[in-house]
Amino acid sequence: MGCQMNERDSETVAGILHCLGYQPAQTPAEADFIALNTCAVRAKPEHKVFSKLGELRRIKQERPQTIIAVLGCVAQVAAQEIARRAPYVDIIIGPRNYAQLAQAIKTVQRTSAPNDPVIVTDSHKTIPEALPVRRTTPVSAFVNVTYGCNNFCTYCVVPYARGREQSRPVQEIVAEVEQAVAEGYKEVTLLGQNVNSYGSGAGQGCPSPTVMSQEEGYGFADLLAEVSRVEELERIRFTTSHPKDISVSLLAAIAGLPNVCEHLHLPIQAGDDEVLARMGRGYTYEQYRHLVEAARERIPGLSITTDVMVGFPGETEEQFHNTLRAFEEIRFDQAFMFKYSDRPGTRAAEMPDKVPEAVKQARLEQLVALQNETARQINQKLVGKSFEVLVAGADAKSPGKVRGRTRTNRLVIFPGQERLIGKLVQVQTQEAYLWGFLGEIAAQS
Ligand code: SF4
Repeated sequence: MGCQMNERDSETVAGILHCLGYQPAQTPAEADFIALNTCAVRAKPEHKVFSKLGELRRIKQERPQTIIAVLGCVAQVAAQEIARRAPYVDIIIGPRNYAQLAQAIKTVQRTSAPNDPVIVTDSHKTIPEALPVRRTTPVSAFVNVTYGCNNFCTYCVVPYARGREQSRPVQEIVAEVEQAVAEGYKEVTLLGQNVNSYGSGAGQGCPSPTVMSQEEGYGFADLLAEVSRVEELERIRFTTSHPKDISVSLLAAIAGLPNVCEHLHLPIQAGDDEVLARMGRGYTYEQYRHLVEAARERIPGLSITTDVMVGFPGETEEQFHNTLRAFEEIRFDQAFMFKYSDRPGTRAAEMPDKVPEAVKQARLEQLVALQNETARQINQKLVGKSFEVLVAGADAKSPGKVRGRTRTNRLVIFPGQERLIGKLVQVQTQEAYLWGFLGEIAAQS
């Protein structure tokens, strides 16, 4: 469940299980080990954890030897609640503690009678290096560059779930990228809650601080330059960027490094200054807009995507309309739009003037309608153009077609054989949709 960092963590968990001799099962009912890798960012995915655990209770009753683990952010912030509500769970481990997973499994295997779960949520200070990985993404390898977050936006549970921000040593990142390329990946996605502040959390509790680059001013732009030198690496993506930490040198790096893709995911969260201040985001709408203008000026063809939430506590109709106006002015290529939900332990959860659910829903629908129209118009203007597409796989819904993404992260579906998977193909777009394009191969690069 959840974000790409969770997906990457699941690959680590799969690597650990593989080393212990486990193989993937076809169904949960056949599995000897079942893990839920959970997301706490909003109330909905957290509710999903408990409803999934309800389903797993039956499996545990029928096959008591099945080990059930809850991992990830909900495990970190709600370990005791999980243990209380689902006493059949054997292992509860937070996202920075997977180095303890193999030991936890062995402990449970040694214990025949039902017991209290093994709970490991104590480490917020270590970077889990040197753990095995079984990559599952088809063409883009996820590589963590930072862990945790120091920003404490008032609505967000991440700093509590994933701990304080720490940067991985440059050498470890480059080595992982080289390994991914050696395995056949042409694209990597560098991951962090806030990749732009790479380097600023360096060495805090880092297990090998001597290898972390500590040069004055070493930042994410420098890391991109370093990673871009990895031979045969065609594309570099990164997510997520925090607007307050984007530097001119980062824009220059995106513009100047040929394998860094022209795509910036830049969460705006709101288009109203008072709401942004209450969220603790550290920028005003004008500052955000100038940043977008500067980025578009410097990086030709740049696509900008965003995250936004409506119905933050105290959000008035006028403040919501400022967000609508921001969307009209900026015209995002794509947006992930959500309703605010209380996260226990955050400052926003304690704020007064909660927006009623029906109002939040209506605002969300209004924003979605606006954004969908914008995305359709933007895509329509790109019909007939030729794009480099990295083919990710067969399109499940249309036999004989494959799907892939442009450098600007647009989805393109076109007639092609599975032998194209993992290859870069020049595709001409023919029909535009909200989700992307139908196209035809123009020429193979
Ligand atoms: S920057 Fe803010 S929203 Fe993003 S992970 Fe950190 S605290 Fe959460």
